[in-house]
Amino acid sequence: MDRLLIVFVDALGPEQWASSRALQRVVGVSRALTGVAGFSSGAIATLLTGQTCANHGRLCLFSARSKAAPRSPLDALLWLRWLPPALAERGAVRRRLARWLAEREGLTGYVALHRVRPQDFRWLDIPERDDVFESATIGGCPTFLGDARDRGLSVFAARWALAEDERWKHTFSMLQQKKPRLSMLYASELDAALHEHGPSTAVAESVLDRLAARVARARDILASDGATVRTVVVGDHGMSAVRRVIDPRPISERGDVRAFVDSTIVRLWGTERSLARARLFAERARWPARWIAREQLEAWGVGVDGAPWGDAWLQIDEGALFAPSHVGGRVAGMHGYGPDARSSSACFASDASVDESVVSLSSVAGWVRAQTERWS
Ligand SMILES: [Zn+2]
Repeated sequence: MDRLLIVFVDALGPEQWASSRALQRVVGVSRALTGVAGFSSGAIATLLTGQTCANHGRLCLFSARSKAAPRSPLDALLWLRWLPPALAERGAVRRRLARWLAEREGLTGYVALHRVRPQDFRWLDIPERDDVFESATIGGCPTFLGDARDRGLSVFAARWALAEDERWKHTFSMLQQKKPRLSMLYASELDAALHEHGPSTAVAESVLDRLAARVARARDILASDGATVRTVVVGDHGMSAVRRVIDPRPISERGDVRAFVDSTIVRLWGTERSLARARLFAERARWPARWIAREQLEAWGVGVDGAPWGDAWLQIDEGALFAPSHVGGRVAGMHGYGPDARSSSACFASDASVDESVVSLSSVAGWVRAQTERWS
């Protein structure tokens, strides 16, 4: 192999690959990888570093501030409290504010404010501050892209922040010019389509068709000078259809706890007594959800020291959704049900047989490193 082409596709699970003949024609061999807890920010960090959340510190977009580092870029948004909520919580205003915040604070990572209430910016933090494809490390853990650059290999990583069509246009032109040894491309369109329309729809199929054509084109560009190219398409999780919606506010707005509601997880910070009251409520209401014990979180690789991700963690069952939440409302498809859920598996598909060492998202980085180390 002369060149390695990796295409990272947000929300490509084994089922998405199995549903797309077009994609199977490009990458015909696939394996289901064990996924991670939380959402894409954790999954991408694990994919790039091979490390767990406890090491790289990424899981969900928002964490609680640590006592050791009480300042956060979110401090710049505290004035939002003085705006009327109808204005401060409008989607277009939020997107503009996110861009303003990123520019002001020099953040190159993914910044989104969703529906987080202004008063919560006081105690929340955003762990992702740097572009994960460009920085050499994530939370101090080296990425395989950084390692390859360190060894002097030519590396191209897609500009994830560009809109889908623009990003692919930029990618094709860069691959043509640079013919890099290692390429890391990025596709975000599938995740958006699956959230909006649910899994296994005609919309998803057409997105996968387009993706397959783009991967084939990228591979053809890299192979146009006669080089052998290995093509890998890898996801971070799949998608489950949403069949039931639970309003989390009886717990999240109790007043005796701090709460952050992601679409599938309610994370609480509070005293033993207040947490016990919240537990009792969820049990009596017979919500389709489970409280995740500290030991289980540790087994999932989630760092629990300093409780950045909550003192108590209520994980909703696969196929259900917490709405309204701090990140959005009702949608047709969702992921983030814990590493043991079916929809948390990620697809690893390739145009050649898949190495036995590749079994989980955390094992991909080691495999990439082994491939690229042969070149130097
Ligand atoms: Zn998603």
